[in-house]
Amino acid sequence: ERAPIVTVDGPSGAGKGTICQLLSKHLGWHLLDSGAIYRVLALAAIHHHIELSNEEALTLMAAHLDVQFLTNTDSNAIKVVLEGEDVTTTIRSQECSDAASKVAALPRVREALLRRQRAFSAMPGLVADGRDMGTVVFPQAPAKIFLTASAQERAQRRFNQLQDKGFDVKIDRLLAEIIERDERDINRSASPLVPAEDALVIDTSGISIEGVLALVLEHVNKKI
Ligand code: C5P
Repeated sequence: ERAPIVTVDGPSGAGKGTICQLLSKHLGWHLLDSGAIYRVLALAAIHHHIELSNEEALTLMAAHLDVQFLTNTDSNAIKVVLEGEDVTTTIRSQECSDAASKVAALPRVREALLRRQRAFSAMPGLVADGRDMGTVVFPQAPAKIFLTASAQERAQRRFNQLQDKGFDVKIDRLLAEIIERDERDINRSASPLVPAEDALVIDTSGISIEGVLALVLEHVNKKI
């Protein structure tokens, strides 16, 4: 039997992470945080002194990456372990965000990560969080969501999140980086950030997390 899949795509800071965690918890389904895969690959590249433009080495690394995603069954929060080391917080740094969007622009790296991502699909179902979940990785998914919000609002949310985690950041710099990263994600030729044709687009600016979750659940219940 094929597991049902909900894809949630969109730019950084649109609330995907929070919504996907709550949604997967609510449904009792598995969760794929595909961004974490790109982040952890970027971190491994930094650790092993591999240039972020070295497509061949990064592709090889993507295929053999020793990473575990451990789900906390109480909250559905994911712990990320790279080569035996807990890197859950490290991969959220600005350096890793930036490096992740660089390695993610390489077509062969994306290709090498397809199988690893698709392996997350399992009964009773999967919530897949990313940029190309509905367009490339799980095009057959019955329910697709695309979350957006203004760049200003996304920068503010990221600022609050990072501050809570103890990172010292400036909001202007975050806004500039969000715009730069969006630009790279939208304009790359390999799996650019676009809503799937059959996705429900939700602008989350000014909507509470509970409000967004309700809209998402309504769509999921209609489609699955
Ligand atoms: O979602 P998150 O901010 O953790 O993703 C980090 C980076 O990984 C993004 O900026 C994007 O470049 C890349 N990414 C991607 N495709 C995905 C998920 C993330 O290209 N499905």
